[in-house]
Formats: sequence, structure tokens, C-alpha cells
Amino acid sequence: MSDSTVYYMDAHSESTETALAAKMITVFDAAGLDEMIKPNDIVAIKVHCGEWNNSAYLRPLYARQLADRIKELGGRPFVCDTTTSSYSPWGSRTSEIDILLTAERNGYSSATLGCPFICADGFIGTSDFVVDIPEGYLLKEAYVAQAIAAADALIALTHFKGHSMGVIGGALKNLGIGAQSKRGKFNVHMGGHPTYGLGAAGVFHPENFKGKANTPDWEILEDCCPFNLYHINENDELEWEGDKCANCLGCFGVMGPRGLMDIPPVQFDAVDAAIADACLGVEKAVGRDKVGYINMALDVSPRCDCANHADVPIVPHLGVFASKDAVAIDMACVDKAREAEGIKGSAAEMMEAHHAGDKKFEAAAATFHGQSEVTSINTGHEIGLGSREYELIECEPDSPERFRFPYDTRPSRQRFGERFEKFQVFPYDKHDGKGFNRLDVVDLEKVKHHYEDSPEITEVSESVHADGDD
Ligand code: SF4
Repeated sequence: MSDSTVYYMDAHSESTETALAAKMITVFDAAGLDEMIKPNDIVAIKVHCGEWNNSAYLRPLYARQLADRIKELGGRPFVCDTTTSSYSPWGSRTSEIDILLTAERNGYSSATLGCPFICADGFIGTSDFVVDIPEGYLLKEAYVAQAIAAADALIALTHFKGHSMGVIGGALKNLGIGAQSKRGKFNVHMGGHPTYGLGAAGVFHPENFKGKANTPDWEILEDCCPFNLYHINENDELEWEGDKCANCLGCFGVMGPRGLMDIPPVQFDAVDAAIADACLGVEKAVGRDKVGYINMALDVSPRCDCANHADVPIVPHLGVFASKDAVAIDMACVDKAREAEGIKGSAAEMMEAHHAGDKKFEAAAATFHGQSEVTSINTGHEIGLGSREYELIECEPDSPERFRFPYDTRPSRQRFGERFEKFQVFPYDKHDGKGFNRLDVVDLEKVKHHYEDSPEITEVSESVHADGDD
């Protein structure tokens, strides 16, 4: 079992060394993740690059800062994500070409990162490395994205938030779903599973289909499934070949709301357990002592970054965490979220789960009542992936010198003295040496006052006058 210490800094920031990007490096080093990187190591930084029009995903700045630190340590970083399941008919990251376009739009490219951004599981998502996991609670094998399995070290750089299926979207999910190939995702999603798969546990209601003539957008009923499992036959009846269902999730948002399919909640519980198994598979593929975790608990949206939108965060920024233990780091984030007061106007308040102590993800993120925000955590604890008992160590800020603009560390006079003389950025020769055409005095109190506090308009002082020059 890994070291279950979690290193933490809160989200408060007021200086160079307390910038969140600086804190991320401070906890990275404190957790000893720097010691995982050896000269010439190929280091995968696994991020979620965000769906099209999601706006809560992690800013690329953090991946850049981490890539620079890894280069400083002698490693060769790349930043990566994987193709998604075709979980929506209109997904933006389902193939390599789509994920690269979406990632670029969201700011993830070699230009911004200073290292390559790659799709880790190939063009369509079949590039993977199969790992046996006899310790698994539910899964006995995992399909790890090839580029991640091939790396010498892996840092899961995770945006911690909610998730409609996983309930929490943390470190466990970043690897347990995000580091699996596309077929690895079908494995975790229970595709073809005899008990928990949609084909086995879903309840199809073809009687609720009222015929093509009464369903103007009937084509989407067939087009939502990339495996071509829904058909409207010559008798104008909807048919489903459920026994071939891969659990891509593509029909959930189409069939569910129309009453054509009851999605089985037990499938979601099974997936949440399988996420921890698959995360263990990733650690085994890379090396159990070569995987580190950073959780950035900022913009804690109720939905995952794979949603094409982002809701009001349910809690304020929680802080920056680092650990060698995926279970401990997610548990620490859940605990912090539970301690926090929820945000007004968020889904947590709408669900009346915004008080300190409330289980906010279960109320505001889960799809079904009864899903648990600790299923993946408990499973990871059970199988020896990590421990839900952890020690939280609060880190002190590092020195500001370390986090200043690195391309020129000289102070201003040395950097700009000669240039400012040469190009005269301040026009000392104008307006009697004052430089610019401005009034000498104005009534600043007048424009500071809130109108409702002081409705009388104050006349501008007669002493205020134009400078009179050009
Ligand atoms: S029937 Fe299965 S394979 Fe087809 S869209 Fe639905 S979940 Fe995907």
C-alpha cells in the first residue's frame, strides 16, 4: 500500500508564492512526487482537457507549470487525455482528431504547455495495454491507454469536482476512467456485464414509442447508438438488441427522458466500484511507485468536465492537494467539501445540501438517489489501492523567488532602464513635465459614493480646471 499522507494548501492567495500554480508545485515537492522523476524519464501528465463549451476544467497553466517542473527534474513530460465513450450523440472528444481540436480550443497544445499534448489511446481508442488485476473488486483486467502504460512515471493532475455517474470526479476517476482506452471505458461502464450492464439490467419500454409520424425527431432514436442496436421496423415499432450493448452511454440522454428506457441505478454503483479497480490497473501498468496525484479542488462544479457546460460551483475553492495515494487524496477532498459551507445559488443549495456537514456530491452531483460519494474510495481501500485513513499535512508557502517570471529574473531597472531612456515611455517633455493632459484636481468623493447612500449630486469644485495645454 502506498504512503497515505496528503499534502495540502488552501486556496487563499495574496502573493507570488501563494499563487495556486505555486502552491501546486509546493505540494508536489512536499509529497515527494519530484523524487519519482529520474533524468530522461518519459512522464505522462494525465489531465481532463474539458468537453466543448465546458468552462470549469483546469486551466492549462497548471499542466504547463507541472511540465516545466518535470523538465527541471530532467524528465520529458507530455500532457494527455483519452478518447471518450460515445456517451452523447454529439460528443466532442470521441476520436483523436476530435479531442485534439477540443483540447486546442480549450487551451491545451504544445504551444501553451511547452511539451506535446497527445491522445493517449490512439485514433479511435483501441490503443491500449491489458493488465490483469486479480485483486479487483469487480474487474479482473483493465485496458490502460497505451501512451500512459508506456510512460516511466505518471502524474494524475486532476480537477476535483462532482460527476453524475462517479458522484465525485477525483484522482480515482481521472485514472479509473480517464486513463482507460475506449474499450477500457466500456469495461468499466459494465458493457456486456451479465448483472450490471444496461443490456441485463435496463428496462426497455418500446410501448412508449408512438410511431415515426408522432415522433418528428425519430431518427435520433436510431442514430444515438454507434453500435446500431436500435431499429424502427416495418411495423413502425422500436426494437433494441440489448444483448449486444457495450454501455457506451450514448442512448441514456435520448431514451431515458422519453420513457423508452429505465436506466438501472445499480449499474452506476457497479461503475463506481470498478473505477477503483481500473485505477489500480493503471498503477500496475506504470509501476505502483511511479504514480503521483495532484488534486486541484477549484471550481468544484457538480458535473464532470465531460459535460458541455459548467454549473455554479457547489462549494468555494477547497485548495490544492498532493499524495502518492489516490484513495487518500480523494477522501481528503470529500472531507473538505463536506466541512465547507455550500455556495448560494448552486445545485447544493437547490438540493438543500449546502450546510457544513452535508454530503454535497450525493445531493447535487449524483444521477440517482442512493448513489454514494465514497463507493470508489471504499473500493480502493478494500483492494489495497490506498487508504481512506490519511494524515493531512498543511504546507507552508515556498520562497517567492522560485515562482517569479523565469525568462528574466533581474529587477526592473536592470531590465528596462536603458530601454525606457531610449524609447521615452513617459513624455517628460510635455505639459510642464507632468507628461499628460489631465485635470489637476477632481471631486473623487463624488464618484466613490453609492448613489443610494448619498443621492444629492455634488457640484464639481470651481478649482477644478483644464490644464489648457495640448
Ligand atoms: S444501446 Fe448500449 S451501445 Fe447502444 S447507445 Fe445505448 S448504451 Fe450505447
